[in-house]
Amino acid sequence: MQSRSAKKERPAEEASQDLAALADALCGHGLADFLSATRQRYLDALPIPAAIVALLPEGQAIQCVNQPFRDIAEWDERGECRDLAGVKLLSSGMIGKRLSAFMAGDEPAEQFETTDGRSVAARHFTVRFARVESLMEGPTRVIVSMIDRTSQVDTERHLRSEMLLDSLTGLPNRLSFNEHVDAILADEARADGRYAVLALDLTRFSRVNESMGALAGDELLITFARRLVSALRPTDMLARTSGDEFAILLKLDRGVADALRAAERLKAVLSLPFRLTELEIRVDCAIGCALVSPQGGGAEEVLRNAQFALKRAKRTGTTQVYEPVEAQAVRRRFSMETNLRRAIESDELTLAFQPLIELATGRVASFEALARWKNDPHEPVSPNEFIPVAEESGLIVPLGRWALEEATQTMAAWDRQMGHPLPLRMSVNLSAIQISRDDIAVLVTDALAASGLPGNRLVLELTESAIIQDPDRAADVLVALKQLDVRVAMDDFGTGYTSLAMLQRLPIDVLKIDRSLIADLLHDNDSAAIVRAILSLADALGMETTAEGIEERALGNRLAAMGCTYAQGFHYARPMEADAAMAYWLERNA
Ligand code: C2E
Ligand code: MG
Ligand code: MG
Repeated sequence: MQSRSAKKERPAEEASQDLAALADALCGHGLADFLSATRQRYLDALPIPAAIVALLPEGQAIQCVNQPFRDIAEWDERGECRDLAGVKLLSSGMIGKRLSAFMAGDEPAEQFETTDGRSVAARHFTVRFARVESLMEGPTRVIVSMIDRTSQVDTERHLRSEMLLDSLTGLPNRLSFNEHVDAILADEARADGRYAVLALDLTRFSRVNESMGALAGDELLITFARRLVSALRPTDMLARTSGDEFAILLKLDRGVADALRAAERLKAVLSLPFRLTELEIRVDCAIGCALVSPQGGGAEEVLRNAQFALKRAKRTGTTQVYEPVEAQAVRRRFSMETNLRRAIESDELTLAFQPLIELATGRVASFEALARWKNDPHEPVSPNEFIPVAEESGLIVPLGRWALEEATQTMAAWDRQMGHPLPLRMSVNLSAIQISRDDIAVLVTDALAASGLPGNRLVLELTESAIIQDPDRAADVLVALKQLDVRVAMDDFGTGYTSLAMLQRLPIDVLKIDRSLIADLLHDNDSAAIVRAILSLADALGMETTAEGIEERALGNRLAAMGCTYAQGFHYARPMEADAAMAYWLERNA
């Protein structure tokens, strides 16, 4: 603790005489005395330490203080007016520095918090400076008042440390752990990938608690925590985050490998049996890890990520590292791409066929061929997922060729089965990537030749995006298809931005109105207006229309009444295997 004894540099009598002489010179002897007594009475009326400091020609001087001030400043009773330097409390440290600046400036008042000294005995003050207005010319005077907040700050500090500690193990708790991680995150240079959080969980702890009682459970937790501490470095931080869960903040020197090594080390020390009163038991633990990175959210999120990995670790039995969703998505895409490539090569894809119903007659006009794939033997993957992967990887080129050949071959097989060409068309989807990378005209010519089907039995479905990406190339492809007598449908119409001019310019036979526009037709007037507008647009351009996604009879009836040509949807049939599709056709067209 610092010495607060007043250091006297000039005799107090001398200073006092100087001041009296000055006051005399300014306003006469009697008035100066009166003012000084008034100041003293004013300070004496205050319950908190207060002093008046004046800026005299010879320097800063204390003009008067009250008893509470004397108590805290270790005042030594000599003279009335003294040099400020003799009173450490006001002349040194933060208070001294700010007081000089305040006296030199012209702010009317200033208030701040400060701590006197650094040791456990440090005192905490709220300090206020206020300028004393003077009726007549005189030195600058400032009243300094102080509130001693030491006991309040100590109590708060004590409560806080209680709040931040786990009472059973004495380790930091979740709150304190998170504060620590947040402090690291606040320092970007430290945060990026140089720290990891491990979440660690005793796998059979509840069994110990149930069979041996809570006391034994507590004992196990304490021993467990001790072992963990023994396996950590001094720079690592261990916390108990909940019942049987611990978190560790690790500093990494060589990235995530360090974290995995630490996890192995921890598992090794924890694998030795624990001695609990009479018994020896073995516990298992699972560990999940997440890297601390400024992009990964705050401490709470890092801990949650580690806990997420921990859940996986419990399932797999090995330490798991959390991966952000994007990384998971990239990995999933990559593995999907590899598997899809193999599936195409080994002919594992199949086609399903969904009928398109002619609304005027109720007959099946055509089938749409839709690709089906089971990534693992039991899990079918939606084309909405694997077609984009195929497009990104270029696999759509072989996939698209295969679909076209398979679909035309299926139709030819149906013809053979029935002994004559059926009044049916086959629709095949064409991707924008195929249009830009493959020679569609050659492909279609070959498929027609191989199956023996005439061009008018085939419909190719293109999405709006296929046309917009490269309108000139798309136009060339469509013209070539027309020369082969192949029909062209624009798929998912209403979701893209095809201009009317483009629609008019391109040889399109059918507009397939997207399911999203059809869905609300019965209940929403705006939808109905849009569909009606598309139907009359198609009519004006001499095109037929298909409504996608008909799931209820009423919708089909309404579209029929509105003049839509075809309907497709679960209400009529879901996409089916070839045999089921043929059976459906036979039944419906009988
Ligand atoms: P699409 O060409 O618009 O095909 C219609 C999609 O709507 C199909 O989804 C079909 O199962 C679904 N659908 C039909 N009726 C209903 C209904 O009433 N309700 C609902 N909720 N859905 C219905 P699927 O088979 O999942 O195919 C999705 C998309 O994948 C297709 O949309 C198409 O763009 C693409 N696709 C499928 N096979 C191929 C292919 O061989 N080549 C290319 N390039 N794309 C394909
Ligand atoms: Mg389609
Ligand atoms: Mg569609």
